[in-house]
Formats: sequence, structure tokens, C-alpha cells
Amino acid sequence: MKNKCYKKWSVFSLILLFTIFLSACKTDIQTPLELSEFKEPTSHEDLMEFVKDAERQSRQITMGIIGESVEGRAIPVLKISGDTYGTNPDKIKMIMFAMLHGNEHSGKEGSLKLIREFANGNLDHFLGNIDLMVLPLMNPDGAEETQRRNAQNIDLNRDHLALESPESQALRTLFMDYLPEVSVDVHEYFPYGSAWEEFGYRKDFDMQIGLVTNPNISSEIIQYQNDTFLPFMKEYIEERGYSFHNYLVGGIPNESVTRHSTVDINDGRQSMGILNTFSMIYEGKNGRDRYADNIEERANCQYESMVGLLEFVSQNKQAIKQMVEEGRNNLIESQPGEKVAIQMEYVKGDEPLHMPLKSVSTGNDTVIVVDEYYPHVEAVLEVEKPTGYLVPAEDEKIVNLLQMHNVIITGQFVPEDHDIYRYTNVTDPENARLVQLDDLPLGIGYYYVPINQLHSNMLVLALEPQSQIGLVNYDAFEYLTEEPDYPILRVNKK
Ligand SMILES: [Zn+2]
Repeated sequence: MKNKCYKKWSVFSLILLFTIFLSACKTDIQTPLELSEFKEPTSHEDLMEFVKDAERQSRQITMGIIGESVEGRAIPVLKISGDTYGTNPDKIKMIMFAMLHGNEHSGKEGSLKLIREFANGNLDHFLGNIDLMVLPLMNPDGAEETQRRNAQNIDLNRDHLALESPESQALRTLFMDYLPEVSVDVHEYFPYGSAWEEFGYRKDFDMQIGLVTNPNISSEIIQYQNDTFLPFMKEYIEERGYSFHNYLVGGIPNESVTRHSTVDINDGRQSMGILNTFSMIYEGKNGRDRYADNIEERANCQYESMVGLLEFVSQNKQAIKQMVEEGRNNLIESQPGEKVAIQMEYVKGDEPLHMPLKSVSTGNDTVIVVDEYYPHVEAVLEVEKPTGYLVPAEDEKIVNLLQMHNVIITGQFVPEDHDIYRYTNVTDPENARLVQLDDLPLGIGYYYVPINQLHSNMLVLALEPQSQIGLVNYDAFEYLTEEPDYPILRVNKK
């Protein structure tokens, strides 16, 4: 009897010991920044070790490599999901990518903290609603040198249309593979420039969030972001002790125009936004040295802002999913004749902006009344959508670009069923004219690019020669307007 009891106890204690052993193995992991006691932003090498550890630590995290930088550094993605990312239609898909600019380290550090918290099981409650992809370091070559651009000297946050860098190409492929409904591009702004020092005041917001502003993006998304999302984030971030503002762009107040954003579709926010994605940009406050200065606080602010977004998206999953789906369906079902704004301008608001600033000399807060405040965007020139575009098959540059964007291109086109138009006089874009052709130009093969697809608005903005943000504005595509006749044709079904 005694013996039996002893045996039971020894089995029990073995199990107990084993459990203790297992939990000891699964100690909470720390980010490289934390291990350095906040003295060194995470290097690419340490980052790669850390994300592998995170994957080992958690069944919910899968690490992948989406491609390589110019200098051959791996660009990792962490897919965080209770299932397999993108396979559960009830969930909403999110993508967060950080450090397109190599001198904005807090986006990376905040992302690593977020990954760490998921790895340690502290954010599991979001995974019932959300599938998340995190790319903590999009520009590893720039980051190694703490410089803005990549190793080709390309600003990756202006390369999402022309896709001239391997980094932007890899991100685009990933995005198109999954088409997340929510997208965040994580940056920092630099408030310590000499012009502001001279002015005597500077911006001091810990976090600014910029929304989609191109007027061709779904007005429902734009309105919901402004009316519902932004107030939520303001409250969420301020409750955690950080200051917040809608992203303000521009130089010294009243000496130059203060506005909210660009309308261009080549940055990390609008390029996803033009596909009717719930897309935004985060702008944390950089350090004075753009490196380790204040990095703990900067990383924490990014992290809290990321969790705030997870909270908002989790709470409003159905509404966001629905408006994105509707917006994307509208693009896929686009009709010829619908208007797209290809030239836009910023428009002054009725009210001045009361801009909170900080005195450079005393550090005191102040408020400046900004009359030169241009919060709105209006169309200056609109064009009607054609049924489709014809792109010369021999123009490999454009054809490759459209393929990288996952644009639908077909060889199926019956000229007799269509009216065919060509822009002429494009060497002088102001006076370019559309003329109807009797037939297709002889001896040139074309691919047909139908307008009724997800890229509908993007195609018009990219391909119209008078588009203020079109391909013709890029050095790589300057050749399009070197001859009076524009090589890409517009066609309308008869
Ligand atoms: Zn940036």
C-alpha cells in the first residue's frame, strides 16, 4: 500500500518537474533593443535572430522572407494568426510595414515589441478577429547606415507605383497575394530642423496619423477614417500619455502651406489606398540624432499606436470589411465614362488651424493660428474612364510594371468592336489632344488592359499622359512623351 502510494507520488513529481522544465524553456523573450538597455537600435542581424526566436516561441507566428534588399539582406515578414494567415474569411487581414526610411528606427523597434508581445501570448485576444502581417524592416540597407534611402538611392516611400527597387517589388507582391483590408505604413517625422529652430517653435506630437487623401479613393473609407477612426486613435493614444495629431505636412506655418498629405499614389499609404484599402501612415517623433535618442519612448509610442489600431479594427471589423469589399467591388465593376481626377489641388478650409507647437527656447506649449491651412483636395482635371487601354507589347517596361502590380492584361481584343483613340501632342502635355484613329497602327502588337478591375483608378492615374502623378512624371518613363504621339491607346467599346 505504502509502496504504491510512493510510486504514484514519484510519477506525479516527474510530471511536475517536466512541466516546470517546459515553462522554464518558454521564458518571455526580449527584443534586442531591450537587451541593449535601449542604447542600440536593432541591427538587421539581431533582428533576424529575434524573429526566428519569436517564431519558435509561438505557434501563432510564422516567419517568412519576402525578398532581398539591393545589398542582399533578407526582408522578413511575420504572419501572426490563430489559423493560417488569410484562410479564415470571418477575419480581417492587416499588414503593417515599417522603416521604408532607414533613419526612422522606432517603427522597427515598435514592431519588434508588438511581435514580442504576440510571441509571449499577451495579445492573443486579437487573433479571433484579425490576421496580421508585420514587416519590421523594409529598408535594411538604409537602416544599417541610418539613412533614408535604399542602396540604389531610391526613396522607397515614393516607389510604390514605379517599383524600381527590389524592396518595393517584394512588398507589392506580398500585398497582392493577400490583399489585406487594413494597411499601415510606419514612419517618423523629424521636428528638429533648423528652419523650425529659427522660427522658435516646433511640432512636438508623439504620434501623427495620416489618412488616405487621394480624392479617387472610396469616399466612404475617407469619411470613416476622418469621423470614426481618427477620434478613436486620438483618445486611445492620449489616454496612454502621448500627444497626438492628424498628420500635418508643410514647412513653417503661414510662410508655406500646411496640409495633411500628398495626393500621390506612390507612397506606402495611398498606393494601397487607391485599391480601396483602409490604409494609413504613422508618423512617430524621431530622435534628435535620428538614432538612439529617446528610443525607448519612441518605440513604446509606436507600439501603443499599433495596439490601438488592432483594438479599433477588432471592434469595427465588420464595418471595415464591408466598406473595403464594396469599394473594391466598385473598382472591379467600373464602367466606362466614370470620372477620375488626374489633376488635383489643395484647398483652403473655412477655418484656420490652431496648431499646437512647442517653444524651442522655453519648452513651453503654445498654439499658433495657421491661416494658410489647406486641408481639402479638389479635382482640377478629370477624365472619363475608357473601356480599356492598349499597351504596346514591345514596351517591356510598362508590361513588366503592370505584371508586377498584378494588373489584368489580356491578348483578347477585337479592334472592330471598339473606337480607338490616341493622345497626340503629348510633348506639350497642356495641349495634348485625343484623336480618334480609323484603325490600330500597323505593325504594332498590343496588350489589352480592361478598366473593370481592382486597379481601375490606379491605371487611369498611372497611364493618362496629363495625370499629375502619372508614369510620365518618372525619369524611367520619360520616353512616353518624347514623341508627339502617346504610345498607349484608349479604347471604348462601340
Ligand atoms: Zn518616413
